[in-house]
Amino acid sequence: MANFYQDNKDIIFHLNNMDLSKIVAFREKNFAEKTQFSEAPADYKDAMENFAMVLDVVGEISGDFIAPRAPEVDKEGAEFSDGEVKYAKGTAEAIDRLRKADLMGFTLPRRFGGLNLPKTMYSMAIEMVSRADASLMNIFGLQEISETIYRFGSEDQKERFLPRFARGEVMGAMALTEPNAGSDLQAVNLKGSIIANEKNGNWYLNGVKRFITNGCAQISLVMARSEDGSSGGRGLSLFIYERDNNMRIRRIEDKLGIHGSPTCEMQFANAPAELIGQRRFGLIKYTMALMNGARLAVSAQALGIAEAAYREADIYSQSRVQFGKPICQIPAVAEMLVNMKVALEAGRSFLYETSRLVDMKDCLEEAIEQNPERKQELHEDCKRYTKYAALFTPALKAYVTEMGNKVCYDALQVHGGNGYMRDFNIERHVRDVRITNIYEGTTQLQVIAAVGGIVSGTLFDRLNDYVQENDFSQIADLYSKAQELRRCLEQALIYLKEKNDKAYQEYHERRLVEMGNDVVLSYLLCIDALKSDRKKMVAHLFITKALPQVQSCLNYILSGDYGALEFGGLVLRGCPKQVIPQA
Ligand SMILES: Cc1cc2nc3c(=O)[nH]c(=O)nc-3n(C[C@H](O)[C@H](O)[C@H](O)COP(=O)(O)OP(=O)(O)OC[C@H]3O[C@@H](n4cnc5c(N)ncnc54)[C@H](O)[C@@H]3O)c2cc1C
Repeated sequence: MANFYQDNKDIIFHLNNMDLSKIVAFREKNFAEKTQFSEAPADYKDAMENFAMVLDVVGEISGDFIAPRAPEVDKEGAEFSDGEVKYAKGTAEAIDRLRKADLMGFTLPRRFGGLNLPKTMYSMAIEMVSRADASLMNIFGLQEISETIYRFGSEDQKERFLPRFARGEVMGAMALTEPNAGSDLQAVNLKGSIIANEKNGNWYLNGVKRFITNGCAQISLVMARSEDGSSGGRGLSLFIYERDNNMRIRRIEDKLGIHGSPTCEMQFANAPAELIGQRRFGLIKYTMALMNGARLAVSAQALGIAEAAYREADIYSQSRVQFGKPICQIPAVAEMLVNMKVALEAGRSFLYETSRLVDMKDCLEEAIEQNPERKQELHEDCKRYTKYAALFTPALKAYVTEMGNKVCYDALQVHGGNGYMRDFNIERHVRDVRITNIYEGTTQLQVIAAVGGIVSGTLFDRLNDYVQENDFSQIADLYSKAQELRRCLEQALIYLKEKNDKAYQEYHERRLVEMGNDVVLSYLLCIDALKSDRKKMVAHLFITKALPQVQSCLNYILSGDYGALEFGGLVLRGCPKQVIPQA
């Protein structure tokens, strides 16, 4: 009997030590629902016990039901024939199992049939489902669609669509990408044109969406150009499309990994759709919110796959004997395993911190929407958490998905030649994790989204919160190293500001985000270290390794060298011109 919650002491550590009291009080409206719904908690303690129970159920289904089916799902994959997509047998069974356990309305309010759980709990659940079968998470994780309808849809839309999601009757898809619009979503061309008059508000979609996960779902959120003659983000709106005969799936992709998740090409021909929210806010407001939620989910997915890979490597290394001893006792292998474990625990702290920040932001936004008279009181906090969420979400995705790839790569290495063979699960994890730093925005795009929050000082504001809220004197040595990391980042930023060369800063953006992530993680692991001796070890191992890395980034930034983009790199590639303007 495998249970991916019970067997993961780190998730339990975090659940036992995190303070969700403000988030729970907001979401439960000070526990006002306890008289209305028998399952609503009576107080904070009750809510936390309820969270643990739900996670236990997800852990059991993941370990016992989903994981054993995953190798077969990977072999069978989703199929496509006669314009219809068929899930692999194990995928269909797993969806049914999750539906029967009432887990398809995770974050939706109870009045729509949901569980009203915070995103932080959803992140934990997604990690476990992804550890079991990364491709299933894409279908489970697309509950995000219903969350977007809840946040931005009309009351009528909420009532019509949300209970169907919560009952698991309908699945979702998020249709943004087009053949010519990937990272650059402003280029979206699909035309949502009014053919009836505006009073009736009838919209019809025409065009092609490509690479759409679960595009065969009953309900898709489709981003389309609604403003004739416009270009750029402000001409885009978001639509709810319910599947009918006016959308044809042209093909599904033959992919490297996540075989259970169908990636569809959708062709719309006068397909009727409903506008969600206001025109022109499709990309700048609704899709950004949708994508930020999905970025959290993909981060949790990468963490779950990496956890699975680490465990495979750990077990293998104990039974594989070379040179007369299990390979886990050979320092080079032991170091890989320890580094994986530390990176995973760092990733988990980062994921939960980010999820909490997003939960806080969402709660504050909702509280202001529902109680406009409290706007003045809540406005400052809402602004602060919005900034934190805007920085942490892309920074997290950049860290965890790259880390997940590295962990899977090393876990295969621990397996030696066996790791390359289909008989072992590890090769599946390596293939599955590879997509996580591509979809929902590549790492390069996450860097662009995160760097502003580092340069503007938002990151330091959050670090100052940590200092105010915690007494680090008990771990003075560790904390002084974390401070040293922070000083390196500050020094790099001062240098860049004085240099005042936009192109030079852009060249070093990825380094800045990586430095920022190491600094944040050092502080977060110091906070964890205050709660457990074991976590002191984790913090020590992380920070000791991060310090020389961050110092090396600083030295490179201080060198003033354009490196790869100046003469050296360009000559190497035979490029005739410099791509960087001279300062
Ligand atoms: C399996 C799979 C499932 C997907 N599911 C969905 C889905 O459900 N819904 C959906 O809408 N989309 C989905 N996508 C699309 C996915 O989000 C895009 O593939 C992704 O955002 C990258 O876009 P692109 O493939 O067009 O790459 P491009 O935008 O062409 O990028 C190519 C390379 O250039 C780099 N690059 C581009 N612009 C910049 C820049 N300004 N600065 C630095 N580097 C840059 C990128 O980082 C990348 O390395 C899916 C894709 C895949 C493969």
